[in-house]
Amino acid sequence: MDLFEYQAKDLFAKHDVPVLAGEVIETPEAAREVAERLGGRAVVKAQVKTGGRGKAGGVKLAADPEDAVEKARAILGMDIKGHTVHRVMLAETADIAEEYYVSFLLDRTNRTFLAMASIEGGMEIEEVAATKPEALARIPVDPIDGVTEAKAREIVQAARFPEEVAGQVVEVLQRLWTVFIEEDALLVEVNPLVKTAEGKIIALDGKVSLDANAEFRQPGHAALEDKAAANPLEAAAKERGLNYVKLEGGSVGIIGNGAGLVMSTLDVVAYAGEAHGGVKPANFLDIGGGASAEVMANGLEIILGDPEVKSVFVNVFGGITACDAVANGIVQALELLKSKGENVSKPLVVRLDGNNAELGRKILTDADHPLVEQVDTMDGAANRAAELAAK
Ligand code: GDP
Ligand code: MN
Repeated sequence: MDLFEYQAKDLFAKHDVPVLAGEVIETPEAAREVAERLGGRAVVKAQVKTGGRGKAGGVKLAADPEDAVEKARAILGMDIKGHTVHRVMLAETADIAEEYYVSFLLDRTNRTFLAMASIEGGMEIEEVAATKPEALARIPVDPIDGVTEAKAREIVQAARFPEEVAGQVVEVLQRLWTVFIEEDALLVEVNPLVKTAEGKIIALDGKVSLDANAEFRQPGHAALEDKAAANPLEAAAKERGLNYVKLEGGSVGIIGNGAGLVMSTLDVVAYAGEAHGGVKPANFLDIGGGASAEVMANGLEIILGDPEVKSVFVNVFGGITACDAVANGIVQALELLKSKGENVSKPLVVRLDGNNAELGRKILTDADHPLVEQVDTMDGAANRAAELAAK
C-alpha cells in the first residue's frame, strides 16, 4: 500500500525523523487559516500517489495566507499523471541550500534490502540514476544487522555527503531504517532530503510503501488506507478474506479455485467473448482450495453484486477439495443467498472437472436449479457464459 506524502511524514515524525509541520486541506478557503498558523508563508503541495508533482506544477510556494488560498485553488482539482488532486498539504517552508536523496527498499533480485543515496537529489533523481549511475550509491543492508551507525556511515561515505552534514545524515538514516523495519515498509524514500541554509537536515518529501502482508501485525495501518479510492466490491471482498480483483468493462463474473486456473479462465473467456461481440471477464476471484458453501456464497454474493456482471462462470478443478464438495457448496450457496433475500437472477455456467467430477455433476443435475447450467469442458463453458452475457 502506497501512502500519501502527509501520511509518510506522519510516520517519519513518529520515529523522530526531522520533518516540517504541515496540515492537509480539501478546499482553497481552508488554506488561509492554516497558512496563518504556519506563520504566513507556506508551501502548497498536491497530495497524490505519484511522483513528479513539482514538475507538474503541484508544488507551489505561497508568500502569505491570501496567496496560499490562490495556490491551493490552482492545485486542487489538477490532474497529475492521471491522479486528480483532492487534497493539498500546506507545510512550513524550508530555505533550501542543498537537495539530497536517500531510500531503503526491498531488493528482490538480490534477495536483500538496499540503501540508495545521492547528493544530487531533487526532482531529477531518475535522470541522475540513468545518466550518472556513479552518483547514486547503492549499499546492500543485511536484514539481521540492519542500519547500524557503521552501516549508516558507509552509506554516507559512499554517496560522498559533505563532512558538515555527515553526522546528521547518519542519524537520519538510522531513524529512517527504524521506520522501514517497525512499520513493515517495502520502500522508504526521501527526495529531497534537504540541508537548510542554517545547516539543518530535514526530510522535505516522503514516499512510503507498506507491506500488505504485514497488516495482521500493524493494526494502525488500516486507517491509512485510501477508502475513497478503493473499489467498493474489492473492499467488500477483502473484508471477507476473498482474493478478488475487479476488471473494468467485463460482464462475465468468474469464480475458480486456484490462481493459475482463474488466470487461464480469464484468457479463455476473453477469447470466447470475441465471438460474442467482445464480451470480457468482469473479475478475478480465486476461492482457493477449500471451497466451502460459505466461501462460495461469499464469492457469488460479491460477483452478483457487480451491476456489470451478466453471467457467471464457475470453473472448478477438483483436487483435495473434490467436485462433490464444491457442487454441494454451490447448491447451498444459492440457498443461502436466497434465504438472505438476495435476488439471484443471473445465469451460472458451471464446469466441474478433476477429483469426483461425476459425483459433483450429478449433485448439480439433481438439484436442478433453474439458473445453473453445466458444461463439461472449460472452452465450452467459457463460450456459453460469454453467450449468456451477450444476450
Ligand atoms: P515531487 O516533485 O513530487 O517529488 O515533490 P517534492 O515534495 O519533492 O517537491 C518538489 C520540489 O519542490 C523540491 O525538490 C523542492 O525543490 C521544492 N520544494 C518543496 N518544498 C519546498 C519548500 O518548503 N521550500 C522550497 N524553497 N522549495 C520546496
Ligand atoms: Mn520529491
